[in-house]
Amino acid sequence: MMLANCEVCNRLFAQTVSPMCPDCAKKEEDDFERVSHYLRENRQATINEIVDALEVPKGLILKFLRMGRLEQRESLSYPCEGCSTLITKGNYCEICQVKKQLIMDQVSSGLKRTNSKSSNGSYYSRSH
Ligand SMILES: [Zn+2]
Ligand SMILES: [Zn+2]
Repeated sequence: MMLANCEVCNRLFAQTVSPMCPDCAKKEEDDFERVSHYLRENRQATINEIVDALEVPKGLILKFLRMGRLEQRESLSYPCEGCSTLITKGNYCEICQVKKQLIMDQVSSGLKRTNSKSSNGSYYSRSH
């Protein structure tokens, strides 16, 4: 059994597949149900309208959208993390995705070089 800190409330819990404790996971599922129900009834709802109507954190709605859990709609577009172009899926627009891939390629080829030469393991890594 692995113990981990819940990414929402930071409480220690026995980790399963979820990065959240059961309480927070359940709350998020409830919120997801409410959001998807609201969207079924309000076909043109924007993200801000959902936030106002359901009092769900905007970040959570964005998370669902980025994960592809909610239907992609023009009215539910949100800004790309790189350049603020409006997108309807993922974290980045197509242009930033290409740019990011290029940077990743450079970083990983740079890392290979660094790793083979020095034992300093403190390099930039990001879990995504
Ligand atoms: Zn929690
Ligand atoms: Zn972008």
